[in-house]
Amino acid sequence: MPVINRVAEMQDQVAEWRRHLHQNPELLYDVHETSKFVAEKLRSFGCDIVETGIGKTGVVGIIKGSQGDGPVIGFRADMDALPIFETSGKAWASRTPGKAHSCGHDGHTAMLLGAAQYLAETRNFKGSVAVIFQPAEEGGAGALAMINDGLMEKFGIRQVYGMHNEPRLPVGNFAIRKGSTMAAADTFEITIHGRGSHAAQPHLSIDPILAASHIVVALQSIVSRETDPLKSLVVTVASIHGGEANNVIPAFVKLGGTVRTLLPETRDFAEKRLAEVAQSTAIAHGATAEVAYRRGYPVTFNHDGETDFAVEIASRVAGPKAVATDVPPHMGAEDFSYMLEKRPGAFIFIGNGDTASLHNAAYDFNDEAIPYGVSYWVTLAETALSAQAA
Ligand SMILES: [Zn+2]
Ligand SMILES: [Zn+2]
Repeated sequence: MPVINRVAEMQDQVAEWRRHLHQNPELLYDVHETSKFVAEKLRSFGCDIVETGIGKTGVVGIIKGSQGDGPVIGFRADMDALPIFETSGKAWASRTPGKAHSCGHDGHTAMLLGAAQYLAETRNFKGSVAVIFQPAEEGGAGALAMINDGLMEKFGIRQVYGMHNEPRLPVGNFAIRKGSTMAAADTFEITIHGRGSHAAQPHLSIDPILAASHIVVALQSIVSRETDPLKSLVVTVASIHGGEANNVIPAFVKLGGTVRTLLPETRDFAEKRLAEVAQSTAIAHGATAEVAYRRGYPVTFNHDGETDFAVEIASRVAGPKAVATDVPPHMGAEDFSYMLEKRPGAFIFIGNGDTASLHNAAYDFNDEAIPYGVSYWVTLAETALSAQAA
């Protein structure tokens, strides 16, 4: 079963929703208008339950199949935009300067709404589908907020599936991999305390700028000399702030950055060594280093059985040649990872073709991908919850 006929008919409608969302981007948890739009649509489709306010502004719709009781399967879309000035030049470009749907979450939301409409019309399955619309994917851990509000238990969700668009992957293609798919993303801030002085009397100072410079260099050895080359690790110092005047050695310097990993043991190791290297390098210069390490999104880990199943479904929609199963992991992060920590499931990439890259100001979701995305959701629901199965 390739793209479903009814889904193809829905393309214009879903694209219209997508462009409405694109024009009206909202950030993080502040997705009030978006979640209102989503909840109204779900009610108009006749979803059995529509619940708002889960994880602050998250929305869940429950659609019961017509073939009796069975398991509940969760499909997740994200609703939030980014603090970016859009330059796509499209007629439906953002109306709010400084906010833009530059990650395509407008497309994810619209495609899942399309699937919800189809599934509520047809109900050709046994059990229930939970359509999950989360806020704050872009750094706010909205998925975790929904989980902490009891998302999984409240609706009895047994498995979870997620989807993200991928620019440059051709439209009509999918990509997925088993295991670690996207990185854990942590942040750190290092404050190096020295002693300020006249810049012409360095012997009276403890120069935190020199100590900070050595720390930046020393941190590179955690990746290059201490980590198995086959285990991915990124340590990036992304900011250095210290000093104001050309004739003053400042009292302190602040460094900030990110650590990305694909395995829990690499993450633990990097966290430990980052502090040790920073502190001992500071001491070597007579300074001290205060290290604040904050764990962000965990590794997005695809479960074996559910990944095989996702591949089977994507292959039915797009043809087996259009489904890549051996793609390398991304070092970006994704908060669907929290859902995959709670329930088995899989996160798939859907081709978005010739668009600007994600988080680029010129990016706009490619509506040509809509029938593939909606068909994936619908086929997944009808197959996982088929009356013949189990
Ligand atoms: Zn993003
Ligand atoms: Zn995204």
